[in-house]
Amino acid sequence: MTEIWLHNTRTRKKELFEPLTPDNVRMYVCGPTVYDRAHLGNARPVVVFDVLYRLLRHVYGADHVRYVRNFTDVDDKINATALARKEAGAEGSLEDLIHERTEETIGWYLSDMAALGALEPTDMPRATGYIAQMIAMIEGLIAGGHAYAAEGHVLFRVRSYKAYGGLSGRSVDDMIAGARVEVAPYKEDPMDFVLWKPSSDDLPGWDSPWGRGRPGWHIECSAMSYELLGDSFDIHGGGNDLMFPHHENEIAQSCCAHPQGGFARFWLHNEMLQVEGKKMSKSLGNFFTVHDLLEQGVPGEVIRFVFLGTHYRRPMDWTEKKRGEAQRELELWANIISVDPEVLDAGVDRKLVDGEIVAAIADDLNTSLALTKLRALARFIDNGSEFLQLSRNEQFTKRKVFVASADLLGFDVIQMARAAKQRRSTPDLEHFSLLLAHARIEAKETKDFSEVDRLKTAFVDAGLEVRMSKDSIELVPTPDFDAAKLEALK
Ligand code: AMP
Ligand code: ZN
Repeated sequence: MTEIWLHNTRTRKKELFEPLTPDNVRMYVCGPTVYDRAHLGNARPVVVFDVLYRLLRHVYGADHVRYVRNFTDVDDKINATALARKEAGAEGSLEDLIHERTEETIGWYLSDMAALGALEPTDMPRATGYIAQMIAMIEGLIAGGHAYAAEGHVLFRVRSYKAYGGLSGRSVDDMIAGARVEVAPYKEDPMDFVLWKPSSDDLPGWDSPWGRGRPGWHIECSAMSYELLGDSFDIHGGGNDLMFPHHENEIAQSCCAHPQGGFARFWLHNEMLQVEGKKMSKSLGNFFTVHDLLEQGVPGEVIRFVFLGTHYRRPMDWTEKKRGEAQRELELWANIISVDPEVLDAGVDRKLVDGEIVAAIADDLNTSLALTKLRALARFIDNGSEFLQLSRNEQFTKRKVFVASADLLGFDVIQMARAAKQRRSTPDLEHFSLLLAHARIEAKETKDFSEVDRLKTAFVDAGLEVRMSKDSIELVPTPDFDAAKLEALK
């Protein structure tokens, strides 16, 4: 079995990964707060952990990996966007508008991430679906002396958890010095963080033993991971901007609420996507969205390729130069596959993945090395004299190895090749509509419409819808469109 080595933030070492239960490998990744479209930086953890998910499925079997990524759908920023809509005259209650906003944002998120080739996780819980579990967990923390209620809030007592700060390797005092902790009269200690807070009547809220309110952000992930993955699981991921305070707080809550469990064993953190040396973020305003890029015609696989060219634990920039290189490389990949229709028909045989490419990914997700090897394989197939000396069957196998290896990195080259082929074979419909236009002009003079009828019948037969108005003709392909049938008309 392939050995997987992963850098564990907790120990700061690359460690051999061995799941608690190989037939149920469990991973949790912090998902987005759904108030607006994902910016390009938000897509980096999605692509990174998608590669890890694919690797785990490859090694342990697709049915033996459970991947949970949450949606934070209760948050002040969501409330603010809904309120702004209401003030701008939108119809419906604030609650309706909040729901509308979160559902709309989740839909955008899923379609943007699918465009990047990311598989959907096995579970995508919404925080609002787990409020009862959060309340139960908070009650347990209070009973254990790890939390206290004060003025409608419930706070976690940080000093009650001796190991606090262990993930990032900092002491509580250092963290207080460095963090922007909120000082509030109801806190015993400025470091204590919110598990539950009161909601005013106009904001979303749930009944609780501490009055009507809503959960703090950190408790969401602790409650959802416990509910779906149990008190001990294999991997917890997210961007390194979440390490403190979010992940330290998740650990404190989960380990105090379920001391019998170990919570997450491996902690993986991706570095930030940057713009001129600064983290891309909504608050700095230095961002563009995934959707912006897709709209500009940058294919999702190009974005993926650029991301995977840099190791996940290094910061990276998005540059026009990288985009251009990725685009050219992916065009080559599509071409070397599209010349062989049998490969297209054979689909992906995942068993055929190149061993060196798996080994590179399994070495703490060395995706840039995996890409280098895939590029070399593409070149070998494209112009190697050695390749031409292989038998027809061996060439076929090489192409299939290429398809399977690209698939492990999340590139659907079969689909890319089909699209390229389609682009090449799509006839110039403009040419055919002109043919019909000329025939119509002539027919109006000669009163002989037989050529017009002949062309129309041929177009319809080829699966084109013929839209004729007084001064325009449009040919629209239907799903039955067959370009080959137009050949005879040329
Ligand atoms: P948020 O909705 O801000 O909590 O972010 C969702 C995910 O995106 C988290 O895992 C963050 O760590 C990650 N993230 C946010 N900004 C960036 C960035 N510039 N580069 C990489 N990851 C980021
Ligand atoms: Zn989280």
